[in-house]
Amino acid sequence: MPIDPREPYDANNIFAKILRGELPCSKVYEDEHALAFNDIRPQAPIHVLVIPKGAYVSWDDFTAKASDAEIAGFMRSVGAVTRQLELDGPGYRLMINMGGHGHQEVPHLHVHIFGGRQFFQMIA
Ligand code: C5P
Repeated sequence: MPIDPREPYDANNIFAKILRGELPCSKVYEDEHALAFNDIRPQAPIHVLVIPKGAYVSWDDFTAKASDAEIAGFMRSVGAVTRQLELDGPGYRLMINMGGHGHQEVPHLHVHIFGGRQFFQMIA
């Protein structure tokens, strides 16, 4: 079910538990700003989620409340993940689902990285 992004941050959401090490993940990358792990239901040969370490429900929440340093650091981390995965040559797709209409299901901001195959024109 899509989330309501106006709800307060739920410290027991599944990605918060992964960040605290209470649930396992298939870790791809970690630094001071972000954790990246393989999506459990991959939609492409490479499907990685990158999450900020701060408690942000959504992209909207993050861009409204995070400091410039957190936002810049997180964006740089996403770039570090794509380069570590060697996707910078062939290319890749980034996606953020935001709230109900965006069909966001987990109430902790996550950037999807899709790679390993050709993607086609975006169809809504
Ligand atoms: O953007 P959205 O919220 O819809 O995406 C959530 C993603 O989190 C899904 O792709 C789902 O497969 C993934 N997921 C995961 N591990 C979990 C729960 C969800 O990788 N334990």
